[in-house]
Amino acid sequence: MQYLITHFSDFQLASLGSFFLHESVFFLSGLPFIYLERAGLLSKYKIQTKNNSLAAQEKCITRLLLYHIGVNLPLMIASYPFFRFMGMKSSLPFPSWYFQLELVGRKVVLSQIIFYFILEDFVFYWGHRILHTKWLYKHVHSVHHEYATPFGLTSEYAHPAEILFLGFATIIGPAITGPHLITLWLWMTLRVLETVEAHCGYHFPWSLSNFLPLYGGADFHDYHHRLLYTKSGNYSSTFVYMDWIFGTDKGYRKLKALKRDGVEEESKQMESKKKASKHNREDEFSKALTSRNTGYR
Ligand SMILES: [Zn+2]
Ligand SMILES: [Zn+2]
Repeated sequence: MQYLITHFSDFQLASLGSFFLHESVFFLSGLPFIYLERAGLLSKYKIQTKNNSLAAQEKCITRLLLYHIGVNLPLMIASYPFFRFMGMKSSLPFPSWYFQLELVGRKVVLSQIIFYFILEDFVFYWGHRILHTKWLYKHVHSVHHEYATPFGLTSEYAHPAEILFLGFATIIGPAITGPHLITLWLWMTLRVLETVEAHCGYHFPWSLSNFLPLYGGADFHDYHHRLLYTKSGNYSSTFVYMDWIFGTDKGYRKLKALKRDGVEEESKQMESKKKASKHNREDEFSKALTSRNTGYR
């Protein structure tokens, strides 16, 4: 960090630095899921049985590069004066990330990040619901829904108008609090990892949603992509409570309950089958014993 601060200006770090960090985190976390899908690895954890074609995956990557350079980069450059005005800093006289974080105040960083996640989820929920109205869906949001079987990189595949519209949800938190550049980069990294995971198409035993009760994750958002736009629900980006409060997760909950009942029913059937075969075995054993006993007589 010290190297970056001494060799680059605040402007370069906040705009170009943020852009390169975003690209690295996004592609490094998203590309492995394309590989998993193509190679058919870990397929038992894949949420949908359908796979994307090579052409569909390539189309996603080329469009993303185009939008990232044509929309995201200019946006990062243009918003710098605003962040600066709101009090964003990058230079601190400490040599390492650890001390830098210490000086910014770890509590401050943590509370700002939590606040950004909650605020982003709230704004995203309403913005996303608006995008599911007829006209906006047809002309804007349907681009993101081209992929009914999402994979990590489809998380940012959207109409440029949507990138600007929902991007607002991501930057509103930092915009009103004027964080340190480190906090901004940490937030960007976590937000990218979160949205890539939500679109990855796999639900692993180690997925975060298995451990954090309010966290949506891949299973939650994959449902949103599978269904028709008027019936999809599950509009939140990170958490599940907004959809629960406003009743837009009813279909998803019903499906979960059906699956749970199905699994329970299946395991009950398995259990009774096991018991039945155990009884049969016991019957056969006692029969054999009786016939042997009778044989002795
Ligand atoms: Zn949607
Ligand atoms: Zn999506």
